Amino acid sequence: MQTREQSARPPLPHTLLLGNFYAGIAQVSSGATFERRNPAQHQDVVSIAPESTAQELRSACVAAREAATAWARTPAPQRAEVLGRLVFLLTRDKESLARFVAREVGKPIREARGSVQEAIDTAVFFQSEGRRLYGQTVPSELNEKELFTYRRPLGVVGVITAGNFPLAVPSWKIIPALLCGNTVVWKPSDDAPGTAWLFFRAWQRAGLPPGVLSIVFGGGKDAAGQFLVDQVDAGLLNKISFTGSTAVGRKIGEVCGRNLQQPSLELGGKNPLVILADADLDLAVDGSLWAAFGTAGQRCTSAGNIIVDRRVLPTVREKLLRRARALRIGDPSNSEVDYGPMINQRFMEGFTQQRATGLDGGAELLLDGRRILPGDEPEGFSGDAAQGLYAAPRIFDKVKMDMRIAQEECFGPTINLVEVDGMDEAMAAANGTPYGLSSALYTRDARAMLRFKEEIGAGMTSINNSTTGAEAHLPFGGNGWSGNGTRESGIWVLDAYTRWQAVNVDLSGKLQKAQIDVAPSARPEADDFEAILPPAR
Ligand code: NAD
Repeated sequence: MQTREQSARPPLPHTLLLGNFYAGIAQVSSGATFERRNPAQHQDVVSIAPESTAQELRSACVAAREAATAWARTPAPQRAEVLGRLVFLLTRDKESLARFVAREVGKPIREARGSVQEAIDTAVFFQSEGRRLYGQTVPSELNEKELFTYRRPLGVVGVITAGNFPLAVPSWKIIPALLCGNTVVWKPSDDAPGTAWLFFRAWQRAGLPPGVLSIVFGGGKDAAGQFLVDQVDAGLLNKISFTGSTAVGRKIGEVCGRNLQQPSLELGGKNPLVILADADLDLAVDGSLWAAFGTAGQRCTSAGNIIVDRRVLPTVREKLLRRARALRIGDPSNSEVDYGPMINQRFMEGFTQQRATGLDGGAELLLDGRRILPGDEPEGFSGDAAQGLYAAPRIFDKVKMDMRIAQEECFGPTINLVEVDGMDEAMAAANGTPYGLSSALYTRDARAMLRFKEEIGAGMTSINNSTTGAEAHLPFGGNGWSGNGTRESGIWVLDAYTRWQAVNVDLSGKLQKAQIDVAPSARPEADDFEAILPPAR
């Protein structure tokens, strides 16, 4: 029987019933399924998807191999035509897609719109790349001989994605992989299967030929994700492109390494944001709040450590505390909220655990963020604490770089304040974790900016801007524990989805041997050097 409170709620939206799609057709799965629930409204079952078997993943990869030759032979400008239609569809449906993203993973609607826009921008960029995909002409050392380079597709790419950017991150991978002439088998995050399905449908409607992109649902360990990686050992995949945690990326790297393949691994971060004594402090606090609490801290580029010069730390501390207390948390469909719910229970548990880890390590709680429970909602809260997974912001003070909380990624709304004295200490702290994804520096000093850009180990650096905020045509990726050096986005990602082929064409009609049949150049005699300068008098 419904309570009065339940019957007063608006009716729940429809549940999407999802199925695998490979070999160009919708597949009937007879096995287990899993549910994805709205993290802001637990009663709302957003989608139900199959928990795919090892055999299904294998079949999807076999089918993708069969589709690979025809797609690779399709001229690149024609492949890119699909992207033009994709741009049209995503633009037309931007608002409904953004609302779905907000419902499925709890991203505030303004950010959800931005993540759809990122997919659109990526498609725009790569549509025109279909008319370039340049190779080179290279001069030969021999007459009547020409040298060329060509980009060739790799074959079949297995794509595995995380759920915190359920449209943007898959678009960074799938768009260039397909444009370059590969076929793709995609295992999306079990946190965002519905968004993945809508993106897949958009590709279909855009006219992608059957079998070129396949979607197979399921979990990670001992499930669809792992079964997809197994296809590397089985010889059915030419590459894995993965975005997710460092722990899983490491395992995938091992499998690919023993098969002499280079995966794309976009992993976790513990990103430093440095505030020097001469910084515009209001700007720096704006950037810190956005970097640490935006998307409830569930971004790979979230600011993990806020490293502050001791001369301005009291002011920064006071401003951060005041602003963090005033954050508006709640319903992600409300365009006024600063952040919405945690994406899943696992991230909430990690956030809860970080509190104990910080206190055990000797850090001090300046703001005690915990799960928001019914009856204990902060002022301005607009969510349903009984139905949603919400976390209040946390600020740790007196954090030292050798503490666990300064070293380990925490996917949640939390700030570590680290005190330093001057640029040398700031630089050491900023480079003081094994990660190297993003970084930021706030200062007015041009020499400090130059030094930071030169010495920081991260793959991405912002000057007077927060650690987050990628643009679709700049390389995105990290070093150290944040990735294996491959990059997403812009022209740089082309190297991740193509192999270079070197071709020489000899028109001389005789066997010409490089290095051997080259006419010897005149060797200078020792006397030639003396003649350059007149003898000193
Ligand atoms: P995760 O590694 O647990 O899962 C990511 C994906 O991998 C999911 O699709 C999951 O089902 C799958 N998976 C899990 N275990 C697997 C296994 N053993 N074999 C194959 N697939 C497996 O990541 P998460 O915790 O869900 O996501 C958050 C992490 O992702 C954070 O560390 C974050 O920093 C990172 N991330 C990185 C980027 C980036 O671009 N660098 C972007 C977004 C998220």
